[in-house]
Amino acid sequence: MHVRTLAGHLAAAALMSLPLLSGEAVAVDPPGDTAGTPAAARVLTYDAGGSAEFRSAVDRGAEIWNESVEGAQLRPVQAGQRADIRVVADDGWPRALPTSLGKGTVWIGRQAVNEGYDTVRISSHELGHILGLPDRKPGPCSSLMSGSSAGVPCTNPYPNAAEKAEVEDNFAGAAGSPSPVAGAARGLLVD
Ligand SMILES: [Zn+2]
Repeated sequence: MHVRTLAGHLAAAALMSLPLLSGEAVAVDPPGDTAGTPAAARVLTYDAGGSAEFRSAVDRGAEIWNESVEGAQLRPVQAGQRADIRVVADDGWPRALPTSLGKGTVWIGRQAVNEGYDTVRISSHELGHILGLPDRKPGPCSSLMSGSSAGVPCTNPYPNAAEKAEVEDNFAGAAGSPSPVAGAARGLLVD
C-alpha cells in the first residue's frame, strides 16, 4: 500500500512536470521568434547588408547587446524580410536615427574609424541608441554611451550596469508591442 502510494505520487509528479518542461522548451512568442529566446525578449531584426567592411563589427555589436540584456535580442534579418534596424556604412560621422523603440537606422561613419575609433564600440554604441539610450557625454570609457568623448584609446564595447538596466526598463513588458521611445523624439543622434 505504501509502495503503491509512493509510486502514485511519483507518477503524478512526472505528469505534472511534463507540461512545465514543454512549456519552457517551447517559446510562447509569436511565430518567427527563434527557439531559446527568453519569453520576455523582444526580437529585433537588423540588416547589416549595407555595412560593407564593418559587417563583422556590427554583428559583434549585436552579440554584445544579446549577451548584456534579456529584454531585447538582435537577430540578422532573414532574406526577403523587412528589418527593424538598418545598418549602413558611409563616409560621415557615426550616427543613429531611432524611429521608435528598437527601430531605426545606424550609420557606421568612416570619419571616426579613420581617426582611430574602435569599430565594435561604434557599432554597439549606435545600436544602444536604437535600444533607447541617449548619449552620455562627456563620460568615461566604462560607459558605452560616452561615445567618442572617452577618446580614441577607449575600445570598450560593453554597456555598463546603468546602461543595461535602462535598456531592460525600456523593453520591460514590451515583447511584441511597439512602444514610444524617448530616443525617437531626439531625432538624429550624431556620435
Ligand atoms: Zn551616440
